[in-house]
Amino acid sequence: MTQARLPIVVIGSGVAGMATALAAAPAPVRLLCRASEGSASAMAQGGIAAAVGEGDSPAAHAEDTLVAGAHHNDAAAVRWLCDVAPATVAWLAEQGVVFDRASGGHLQLGREGGHGMHRIVHAGGDATGAMLVQALQARVEQASHVQWRGDADVDALLLRGDRVAGVRIRDAQRRHEEIEAALVVVATGGIGALYAHTSNPPGADGSGLALALAAGAEPRDLEFVQFHPTALAVEGHSLPLLTEALRGAGAHLYDGEGRPLMADLHPLGDLAPRDVVARRVWAVRQQGGSTWLDATPIEGEWERRFPTVLAACLAHGLDPRRERLPISPVAHFHMGGVATDLDGHTSIPGLYAAGEVACNGVHGANRLASNSLLEAVACGRRLGAALAKVPVLQAGGTHRWIERGASLPAEGLPALRELLWRAAGPVREAGELRDAWQVCTAAADGAWQMRLAQALLRAMRLRSRSLGAHWREDHGCPA
Ligand SMILES: Cc1cc2nc3c(=O)[nH]c(=O)nc-3n(C[C@H](O)[C@H](O)[C@H](O)COP(=O)(O)OP(=O)(O)OC[C@H]3O[C@@H](n4cnc5c(N)ncnc54)[C@H](O)[C@@H]3O)c2cc1C
Repeated sequence: MTQARLPIVVIGSGVAGMATALAAAPAPVRLLCRASEGSASAMAQGGIAAAVGEGDSPAAHAEDTLVAGAHHNDAAAVRWLCDVAPATVAWLAEQGVVFDRASGGHLQLGREGGHGMHRIVHAGGDATGAMLVQALQARVEQASHVQWRGDADVDALLLRGDRVAGVRIRDAQRRHEEIEAALVVVATGGIGALYAHTSNPPGADGSGLALALAAGAEPRDLEFVQFHPTALAVEGHSLPLLTEALRGAGAHLYDGEGRPLMADLHPLGDLAPRDVVARRVWAVRQQGGSTWLDATPIEGEWERRFPTVLAACLAHGLDPRRERLPISPVAHFHMGGVATDLDGHTSIPGLYAAGEVACNGVHGANRLASNSLLEAVACGRRLGAALAKVPVLQAGGTHRWIERGASLPAEGLPALRELLWRAAGPVREAGELRDAWQVCTAAADGAWQMRLAQALLRAMRLRSRSLGAHWREDHGCPA
């Protein structure tokens, strides 16, 4: 084998992809992402969980993470993540993220569902994700080892022998280009856009997950999808999120008759874990009722604390400072994904994964709020640093392309999204899962979205008991 100077190819330029690329220095990196569809990273509102407050500890953060994850988590991975959280925040500050601070100079800490204390570090009020992306993008642009390319939809992986050794990209004009790689990292985010209602951007359609699965990568925990309970219930596919930090700051949930929505349902009330609140909102709406978030008790300057929420509401003719907001649950975060260890190894040599597309066990059956930016950055950095040390060998053997395959036609997507929303939403039942799986199986020779949906539904059918965010209404009655 001969030494080659092939780049590490990173697919996806959310925070996971950018953190990986930056940490891989001095190894050459090509950072690829699709055109102008944004990333979930840039939309993140609440912030980053880290035990930096007085009286807090990584052990307490870890305990809350395990409880939220229904102890389905990999406990050692959770301990590592919570241990490195303060250093991850410090690294982000070094990259230029200006976190919000109180007048005394210490970090302002928000509180979100499932956290036993105020532990959420934020920037620009509720614009944390945008601040992170802005700072990391500036670093990427300055980094001489990173070559960034937009307008690059990765739709095939190159295998040489049993190793992933490159990618094929397609631009907006449908022109293809092949890129050979020393190693390939999938950092393509989640699957929310496969659902009828989501907080995710349209590009969070699971295409990287579909590609990795097509190449034979092991999946893990595909059935666990988190639904956020409070998106603004307006027309559309990608709905504006009303961050949980609003409830941490004094907002409350009500039903259409003005009764507290979470009364007597959970000791943490409005700040109960997301799946509990999301199921309650779902149930009331399924019964034809309406659900509301009253954020009018929040004191302080909305423009400074919640500029993203304020702007989104005003754009829909609603003023959160003066009126209650109609809310709906939305598909929000995928706990499952391509199975990896903490170093991002998948089951295929040469293929790595980081961020929301990966499943290394830290989130278990349900992610604790604000642990995902943390995971994407911390694991991205860990992966990049490890890849920089991997000896780069030219892969041998016959080469073949693994294609993602044809996409559903635009008019076919809404039906699939409705199918998943109904059958694979916050509340699931054997018969509906079976019917939806049959629809996808019948069409699985066609579009890649149908094959991915089939894999998701298969995992949901196999887990016949409720766990974390996977709620089986039938509690396991045979289909
Ligand atoms: C509205 C909202 C609010 C959130 N708030 C928080 C929060 O407060 N705290 C928190 O911890 N988490 C939050 N999350 C979750 C968090 O933002 C995500 O889990 C995290 O940012 C995922 O990062 P990522 O880098 O893995 O993926 P993303 O940021 O989604 O980036 C994926 C990238 O991959 C690219 N891509 C996808 N497919 C392809 C392809 N085939 N070819 C090329 N490129 C491709 C996309 O264009 C994109 O650039 C929020 C999510 C949303 C949607």
